[in-house]
Amino acid sequence: MIPEETSGIGTVSTIDPATPSPAMAAVDVDVCEVGPRDGLQSLSGFVPTAVKMDWIAREAAAGVREIEVCSFVPPKVVPQFVDAADVVAGALDIPGLTVTALVPNAKGAERAVAAGVHRLSFTLSVSRSHSLANVRRTPDEQLAEFARITAFLATVPAARRPLVSGGLSTVFGCATEGPVDEAEVVRLAVGLAEAGADDISLADTTGHANPAQVRRVVGAVSRAVGSRLTALHLHDTRGLGLANVLAGLDAGIRSFDASLGGLGGCPFAPGAHGNVATEDLVFMLESMGLRTGIDIGRLLDARRALEAALPGAPFAGHLHKAGLPKGFRPAPGGRL
Ligand code: ZN
Repeated sequence: MIPEETSGIGTVSTIDPATPSPAMAAVDVDVCEVGPRDGLQSLSGFVPTAVKMDWIAREAAAGVREIEVCSFVPPKVVPQFVDAADVVAGALDIPGLTVTALVPNAKGAERAVAAGVHRLSFTLSVSRSHSLANVRRTPDEQLAEFARITAFLATVPAARRPLVSGGLSTVFGCATEGPVDEAEVVRLAVGLAEAGADDISLADTTGHANPAQVRRVVGAVSRAVGSRLTALHLHDTRGLGLANVLAGLDAGIRSFDASLGGLGGCPFAPGAHGNVATEDLVFMLESMGLRTGIDIGRLLDARRALEAALPGAPFAGHLHKAGLPKGFRPAPGGRL
């Protein structure tokens, strides 16, 4: 059992936007862009490497500090990521950017390390049927695969060894199985922590979560693995994405995944959406006085460029339609 640690973070809903954080960290909340991985995996056509690189470069220039740039799945399974090593190489040339890649297995981890990523994002589905469909392993078999990855990473020289995140998916519900057992979520989170995850994230893969559930599950996992639970990956499938972010903030989470233009969802599930839209999330956080380090205007420019490059893709979100409200100010010291 991992010793319990306290996050030391209380509720933030009442933060006064006029009061700078005493810590004066560069940012208050980390926003990790996952669109180049989560958004593109659901598109049927191959997106040219140059389009992916332009997207990544524009977001980095807007101030996004971490981007999940691709997935090291077998190219036979998801041809979209056949250029994964090239995308990583290009992203590594961007100063200050943390380059993350999703890895579903040890083979993918070896390819990602060879490519030079800064962080591996491993995924383990709590739902047995989703896990079998996704990686053809039960959750416990996938946990054993994670232990193989951390054993492999221990053999990598420290200078080249990436961090490894243990990401639990279908945490809040499963499209096949419906409700997911919260005790099983906690058990698998502890398993990831004990197997050597540097940090743990919880994903609402199919948009089942509600704010009360987010608060409850984050609390339960935090009690089991302490401050190692750092991030939430929330989809906006049923319109509760930002409400769930707020619940996560109140529960002490300070890192959220998002997708530019809310790109994502399944082309075979009408009405499905991707992650919360990055620009909407940054707008909410900055409006609340929470610094993200991201320039919203440049983020909206990046969205326009991406929409032009991907005509017909299932974009979502709100801010791009109305624009920033009159008199809007970002968090103190923030960029506009
Ligand atoms: Zn996702």
